[in-house]
Amino acid sequence: MRRAILSDIHGNLHALEAVLKDAEKAVVEEFLCLGDVVGYGAYPQECLQLVRERCRWVVRGNHDQVASDDSPLDEYYNEARISLEWTRKMLSTEDRAWLGSLPMVVQEESLSLVHASLHRPEDWEYLDFEGDLRRHFRCQETPICFSGHTHVAGVFEEEPLASREIPWNAPYSLSPEKRYLLNAGSVGQPRDQDPRASYVILDEFQKVVTFRRVRYEVGRAQTAIRARKLPPFLAERLGEGV
Ligand code: ZN
Repeated sequence: MRRAILSDIHGNLHALEAVLKDAEKAVVEEFLCLGDVVGYGAYPQECLQLVRERCRWVVRGNHDQVASDDSPLDEYYNEARISLEWTRKMLSTEDRAWLGSLPMVVQEESLSLVHASLHRPEDWEYLDFEGDLRRHFRCQETPICFSGHTHVAGVFEEEPLASREIPWNAPYSLSPEKRYLLNAGSVGQPRDQDPRASYVILDEFQKVVTFRRVRYEVGRAQTAIRARKLPPFLAERLGEGV
């Protein structure tokens, strides 16, 4: 089965629609989502609705979590806090309950899905350093795990611990001998200096993944953020992919 793995959509409807279209052209049969459907972007409700309709599995991200409850937002920097307060107001009670009901982890026979790390998923660890990656792999029970959270796509192998270069838009074969952590990057707010939306297609039969980059109308996403009087930085960063 061919499946598309989407992460960190962050209320960016223009990016999400472009990714869905791209995946349909690639004859994807199923969509999976790694969380952070909302927060930052101008279309939280619309993105939530689409993800809810289209995705077989959705795991909970940190932005989904805080958009669903009324917990204090002191840990977030100013722009994120303003967008989260606005997002809470835009969502219905039912939308917020749905976000709060999402599982932290989904595990199938051959793959796991988590927003940040399988090591204490509720702590939302960033897998930037060797120690964080090792702790994650110790908790990974499946050959493949998909995660997001950093907004930077990546391929990590366990033994020996290694990070591999991504061949964008080209097939990447997964060895049956190895275990992998695959970061899908971000649909709605990439942070690797490339503003194009990022997602992954998994061909489970051939054991191949393809990291995709998709152009979308960044200008329209930026205009919508500004029109809603959200912090201008949230619009600017989309143009630079930071
Ligand atoms: Zn995120």
